[in-house]
Amino acid sequence: MRDITDYTGLSSDVLRAKIAAVRAKAGDRLAILAHYYVPDEVVEIADYVGDSLGLAKKAAASPADTVLFCGVKFMLETADVLMNRPERIAARGGRRAVVMAPDITAGCPMADMITPEQAEDWKKQLSELVDFSEFTPITYVNSSSETKAFCGRNGGAVCTSANAEKVVRDAFAKRPKLLFMPDSRLGRTTALELGVKPEEIVTWRPNKPLGLSTPEAIKRARVILWDGFCPTHQRFSAPVIKGIKKAYPNAQFWVHPEAPRDIVEMADGYGSTTKLLDVVSKAPAGATLAIGTEWKLVDRIRRQNPDKTILFPAEQPSVCVNMSKSTLDKAAWALENWADGEPVNVVTTPEDVVEDAYRSLESLL
Ligand code: SF4
Repeated sequence: MRDITDYTGLSSDVLRAKIAAVRAKAGDRLAILAHYYVPDEVVEIADYVGDSLGLAKKAAASPADTVLFCGVKFMLETADVLMNRPERIAARGGRRAVVMAPDITAGCPMADMITPEQAEDWKKQLSELVDFSEFTPITYVNSSSETKAFCGRNGGAVCTSANAEKVVRDAFAKRPKLLFMPDSRLGRTTALELGVKPEEIVTWRPNKPLGLSTPEAIKRARVILWDGFCPTHQRFSAPVIKGIKKAYPNAQFWVHPEAPRDIVEMADGYGSTTKLLDVVSKAPAGATLAIGTEWKLVDRIRRQNPDKTILFPAEQPSVCVNMSKSTLDKAAWALENWADGEPVNVVTTPEDVVEDAYRSLESLL
């Protein structure tokens, strides 16, 4: 196996040439997918750049048998489940798709905020108080395959920031109540926007008896939120936003729904990263926009739109350190090892959760 230290310090030109050589030889067998939040140098080598929903759909439809997925672990698990359905393996003549990461340590802190044991304990505690079959469990796609499997086993579904309202509306059409995990921020905004009253929403604090709630509140709740959050999207600042609105009265402020509710309420609109990009691209020349999402993407938007003023609604850049782990040297290292027949950083979803995880993911497709 090649050593990553042999790649550290190589120039971008050399690394790009190495990647181009592997791609030329691999042809359609190889696809490079990247999330919007990874560094520019990796965005530039990707075949497709998108948000979680776009990437999941791309992986599901990809004719490639190997994907270098530049994102975080839950995205690779999703791609692994979708690319290795029995019919897809059969179409490849029995070969499993290989889904590999430039850096296997790139995880998502929010996805790790709920474990399979915690999900089962949540169900157990609720079942002692209420009829659990009245709840549809919904997980944000930013969750482990085990959390997705928990939802699949219990008649639930996966949502993304792009389709959360539709998934939650569909869930309410089938059952009167829902659990939302792990992102309490997205869950709260989605529920409130669909008309759920604040007093019908309970936040469940992990590892505390009854989630630090009361039996009365739980019996009354239509929505119970797991108390997870994205650290990167917590850093937007109400005073900075007020300052922007004062200095630029015509500025539009748009934010990702992983932000806290009080920040979303200050915004002119909210949406997935794809939606935020769309808002900027449709704004007229000369417009001023404050965009509340991961800093690297906002900085890229700023450079790509020199005719607009793009502001960041926080005191400091808020960078997702895990997305930043996908770098050009690690991508070249992973690809050359794969070309040698020694793939590294391959993510495989545990067999015992694949079917349940897939059941929950069908809502994305
Ligand atoms: S931006 Fe937030 S939700 Fe997305 S991968 Fe990073 S920590 Fe996870």
